[in-house]
Amino acid sequence: MDLVVEIDRHSGFCGGVIRAIGKAERYLSSEGQERLYSLGAIVHNEAELERLGKQGLVTVGKEDLDRLDPGSTLLIRAHGEPPGTYRKAEENGLRLIDCTCPVVLQLQRSIREAYARLHKDGRNGRIIIFGKIGHAEVLGLLGQVGGDALVVENDRMLESLIAEGKIDFSEPVEIFSQTTKSPDGFEAICRILRAHTDRLVIHNTICSQVATRHEKLIQFAGEHDLLLFVSGKESSNGKVLSQICRDENPRTYVIGSPGEIRREWFREGERVGICGATSTPKWLLEEVAEAVRNL
Ligand code: SF4
Repeated sequence: MDLVVEIDRHSGFCGGVIRAIGKAERYLSSEGQERLYSLGAIVHNEAELERLGKQGLVTVGKEDLDRLDPGSTLLIRAHGEPPGTYRKAEENGLRLIDCTCPVVLQLQRSIREAYARLHKDGRNGRIIIFGKIGHAEVLGLLGQVGGDALVVENDRMLESLIAEGKIDFSEPVEIFSQTTKSPDGFEAICRILRAHTDRLVIHNTICSQVATRHEKLIQFAGEHDLLLFVSGKESSNGKVLSQICRDENPRTYVIGSPGEIRREWFREGERVGICGATSTPKWLLEEVAEAVRNL
């Protein structure tokens, strides 16, 4: 089949994931180190996890922390963790490789500072986090303020919370975002809050690597007849970015590996774009492109 195949040069791992994987690989290639435990998947991509698994990276959950041998090494991934995880690791004698992304660390610090400001002198201001309930990064953020913040996933959820009287607008409100959320979604949330209070402080904490990727991806999606969006099923960034592609180009197919490609999706002479999430490795994009070229 005669197709033009192009890989989006802006797709692939973000800086935080590159840093975490680099640290894990360096550790596992050092002498005598055969196993490294990662608290949660280091990246939401099954193929990359399999590759790292062969080098000795083992994904564990919080429930496993009590079972690891003292002296084992535990990697904290780019999403970050609440303070309780660090305490638990110390109690259990675990050594840490902390790969919390510097952007997330700064966000955690800002939330702690905002909380102190909002509760100074007996005040009772409110922190709102635009993010996914239960997402690891959001749990890490909540842990900075003892869980005392409201998490809203979208504008409908915010409207309901306001209708139920869950936000006291007589007190100041500060809004933050999970780093991988959509800039448009954040703007919609801020718009609603602005309509209710003029004591609102907006912290646009969406990662610049994610925000700029949105615009570039829309352009890439519009330039191709058909898109293959390569992403792990658990990647929330993948869900957001693939939806952006689909909005721009309805012929967007989300796949996890070259094996999921279907010949009937393509027509002779078309321009095919290959792109992915911040958790999709470049080598996987190359493999998908190669499979399409071989159709
Ligand atoms: S998306 Fe941005 S904030 Fe999140 S891990 Fe990657 S570089 Fe860090």
